[in-house]
This record gives sequence, C-alpha cells and structure tokens, in this order.
Amino acid sequence: LAKELGRNNYQFFTSDLMIRAQHRYTLERNLRRALVEDEFLLYYQPKLNLNDGQIVGAEALIRWNMPDMGLVAPNEFIPFAEEIGLIVPMGRWVLSKACEQAQKWRVEHQIDFKISVNISPKQFQDPKLPQFILEVLLASELPAHALQLEITEGLLMVEAEHLSSVFDAIKTLGISISLDDFGTGFSSLSYLQRFPIDNLKIDRSFIREIPENQDSVVLTKAIIAMSSALGMSVTAEGVENIEQMDFLRGAGCDEIQGFYFSKPISVEHFSQLLSEHKLSRQSRLS
Ligand code: C2E
Ligand code: MG
Ligand code: MG
Ligand code: MG
Repeated sequence: LAKELGRNNYQFFTSDLMIRAQHRYTLERNLRRALVEDEFLLYYQPKLNLNDGQIVGAEALIRWNMPDMGLVAPNEFIPFAEEIGLIVPMGRWVLSKACEQAQKWRVEHQIDFKISVNISPKQFQDPKLPQFILEVLLASELPAHALQLEITEGLLMVEAEHLSSVFDAIKTLGISISLDDFGTGFSSLSYLQRFPIDNLKIDRSFIREIPENQDSVVLTKAIIAMSSALGMSVTAEGVENIEQMDFLRGAGCDEIQGFYFSKPISVEHFSQLLSEHKLSRQSRLS
C-alpha cells in the first residue's frame, strides 16, 4: 500500500510541478526545441507469445530526456502535444525511429519481430499518414507485416470523413491495427465490425484485478472469446505476476506484455535481452 501511495503521490507531484513551473507556451517552446535537439528517445517493452514464451515483438514508448529534469513520462506531454498538433511531427519521429530499430533487431537476431507504435487520434486523421508510413517502410526495409499501429477507441467515435480511407490505405500496405486499452473507452462494439481491427489489447485495469475480482475475470474471458470469434488476436497489457499469466494462458490469450516479464527498457538493454533470450532458446532446444 505504501508503495502504491508513493507512486501515485509521485505522479501527482510531477504533473503539478510541470503545470506550475511552466506556462503552456514555455512547455510548447520546450517541446519544439526537444524535437530539433533530439531530446526524445524510445523505450521498448517486449511482448511474449503465451504458447511458447518467445519474444514476438515490442511496443515503442516515447520518453523525453529533458535537460535538468531527467526522463519525463509520455503522459506528461503527449496529451499537450496532441492538443497543439505537435504530435504529428513527433509521431513521425517515433515511427521512423521505431521501424529502423525493429529492422536492425530482425536482421541481427534473425527473428520475426513485430514493432507496435502508438498513434494518437490527430496523427491517424492526418491524410498524409499512409504515404509517410510507406516511406518509412521503404527507408527502413521493415516488412509491412512487422509493423502494428496501436490506436484507441476514442478515435473511432470521431466523425471523420476520411477515417475509413486511412484505414483502407493502411490495410492495403499490409500493416496491422491493434485497439489499445480495450474496454476503457465508450465505443460501441459495432466499431469492431466497421473497422479492420486485427488485435484487441485488453486494458491493464482488468488484468490488475485478476484473479481476485470475479467481474474482471469474467470480462477478460469474454473479451478473449469475442476476439477469437471475430478473428482477431488478443494481447493482455499490464501483466505483473505469474497468476495473471497462468490465468491468461488458460483463457486462450495470445500475447502478454507487462512488468512480470519486463518493464519498458532502453535500446541497449533490449538488445541484451534479445541475445539472452536466444541463448536460452538454444539451450532448451539442444
Ligand atoms: P499505452 O500505449 O497503453 O502503453 C502502456 C503503458 O503501460 C506504458 O506506460 C507502460 O510502461 C505501462 N505498463 C506496461 N506494463 C505495465 C505493468 O505491468 N504495470 C504497470 N503499472 N504499467 C505497465 P508509458 O510508457 O508511461 O506510456 C503511457 C502512455 O503514453 C501509453 O499508454 C500511450 O498512450 C502514450 N504513449 C507512449 N508513447 C507514445 C508515442 O510514441 N506516441 C503516442 N501517441 N502516445 C504514446
Ligand atoms: Mg499502447
Ligand atoms: Mg495500452
Ligand atoms: Mg494503457
């Protein structure tokens, strides 16, 4: 409990500090400078296949290495970047960086590795997004099937005319789409039919209460059953212990992501993880 409180207090303190210490224009100026000065970096959190325990990919998660502040978490600046439209150039940086890194790992470690990139609503509504992604794929040599975009339910409620055409263009490229934080939005399930969603990512709030909370257990099972009936794969986020992992495996969940296996880590650390993982696989096979 103390740990829980400590963490929440810290987050609250950070937000409060950011708001008080910086006027919006200062934050905007700092963010613009950060893009130019290359102050952002990506951390990567592994995703595991629940059948064989192999690393099947990673989610790229942005961090801001702000001078004199250390690493700033995305929740501190992504919503503001979205609000002022700076998310579009920032998101482009994330896409190119993540695809480039993923292809490096695919080649170095000879693995079929998928990279997931978070795309905010404003980015997804940018009609130039598919063309930009195509350019990134060509430049990085990453195959389209190795890229997954994580979008949120909120996007699907927006009455955007060209939303369907962006989906079509992205699907034509061969890229998959995951619905992030599934179960927390207010979207109606009919969206699952209307849009070409390949994967549901069950929100951490359900996983956190497994196995104690019977409602979370039932809802998680129902999401897994529904996704398989609709031909989608399913990923659980926020898996923090072995009980949750065992439950999810038994329930037929495809992939897990969470602190139980690894927190989001730096490029160097992730490269090391991939090497160790390969070694353990080889020793199991021999
Ligand atoms: P998300 O896409 O749902 O990412 C998962 C978040 O859950 C990450 O927080 C990750 O560190 C955290 N997490 C993963 N496993 C566990 C666990 O077992 N326990 C707990 N307590 N937490 C876990 P992070 O990195 O702080 O990112 C927060 C959010 O910021 C992301 O949520 C995403 O919505 C947004 N975000 C991050 N990077 C980007 C980006 O490049 N572009 C956009 N548009 N949004 C981003
Ligand atoms: Mg995500
Ligand atoms: Mg998520
Ligand atoms: Mg989340």
